[in-house]
Amino acid sequence: VLSEPRPIWGNLIPEFLADLKEADFETIPCPLCGSWDLEPIYEGVGLRGNHVHCVICRRCTHIHINPRPTLEAFKRFYQGVDYFELCAEFSRMSIEEKLAQFEDDSFWERRSVHGERLYARYLTGRLGPEDTVFDFGCGDGAWLWSLQQSSGCQVDGEEISDHYVEVVKRKLGVDIFNGPIEEVAEDIVAKHEGGVRLAIVSGSLQHMLDPLLCLRAAHQILAEDGFLFVCNWSIFEHYLSPYGDEPSRLIGESLSWEHPHYFHEASFRFMLEQSGFELVDLQIESPIRERHMHAFAKKARPRDDIEPIHDVDGVVARVRSLESATVTNRLRRI
Ligand SMILES: [Zn+2]
Repeated sequence: VLSEPRPIWGNLIPEFLADLKEADFETIPCPLCGSWDLEPIYEGVGLRGNHVHCVICRRCTHIHINPRPTLEAFKRFYQGVDYFELCAEFSRMSIEEKLAQFEDDSFWERRSVHGERLYARYLTGRLGPEDTVFDFGCGDGAWLWSLQQSSGCQVDGEEISDHYVEVVKRKLGVDIFNGPIEEVAEDIVAKHEGGVRLAIVSGSLQHMLDPLLCLRAAHQILAEDGFLFVCNWSIFEHYLSPYGDEPSRLIGESLSWEHPHYFHEASFRFMLEQSGFELVDLQIESPIRERHMHAFAKKARPRDDIEPIHDVDGVVARVRSLESATVTNRLRRI
């Protein structure tokens, strides 16, 4: 009797990925511009051992996973322990150790550095106790905590992982929105429309199925003189190039199931401008959060006439040349 057929990588990939079915994925038009003119850029084994398809949009050059996981599949992943386990594994600690660190004051001191830098660079004299800061995908709430320490501001946020929602409640005493942005955006806008001074989306846009929905919600909750801070890895500088002691990755080694988007400067600018923001500052190597590209922008009029960048062949050529460099370096070492 033959045993159940298993995927080739079935014994190597995490259970939550091995359990995914075809129905857990959907093919979509470009999530930034709606175009169906998508060109495959990679198909094969991804970072976590499962099969991924990555495409580039020929209209706006956005690189993303397509077919992508459905919202239901995403929610199962974030609401269970799977995501938290992955975070713990990334920090090379057990779940128990990960949870214990939130009780430790020195942990919060270390975590406050990003918020302090953000405050010093853009917010001194601009953010005070009467202002509200909203963090989309706020994780453990470290940005909010730090900005509250610096300015006395009011804080609120949104987070998909219920573990982190608890952490924020304990540390900051705030009941933030719990859920994927796709489900809670309306409630966030209803509560905060036009009343927020600063919206933060730090390292979370690449996790969201619909990043434009998040940025549009940010636009709606901001006051007319409101600001947006957003940061993310750039596929060129932070995945495909060596960074610090970490060697460069091939594109397959960069793609993971829970990150449907891979931003780079051109697509990042297009996305922000299209959602109604005027860039004040864009830094490919962020001085605020290491190994991130960041943008600080102010609320402007939403526009639908932004022309995306058409240099798709240039973007693909850059991916291929970085991959060639990585392969060459590895062969040289052998
Ligand atoms: Zn596009």
